[in-house]
Amino acid sequence: MSERSCPKCGSRKVACIIYGLPVWSSELERADREGRLIMGGCCMNGDDPDSQCLSCGHRWTAGREPPADM
Ligand SMILES: [Zn+2]
Repeated sequence: MSERSCPKCGSRKVACIIYGLPVWSSELERADREGRLIMGGCCMNGDDPDSQCLSCGHRWTAGREPPADM
């Protein structure tokens, strides 16, 4: 998982917001353990943010990331 940083405050403590029923992987499990996973529910409006800063609470959409190093 590539490191994201908050566009607002620059913090690297960024959580992923997961919508729907995620395919549970060791990657997700680790993110969940580290508190970097937020369940966003199953309803999407089309412009839902997929990232949340754990430092300032800012939410944004980082877009689909290429599967770099799974
Ligand atoms: Zn931030």
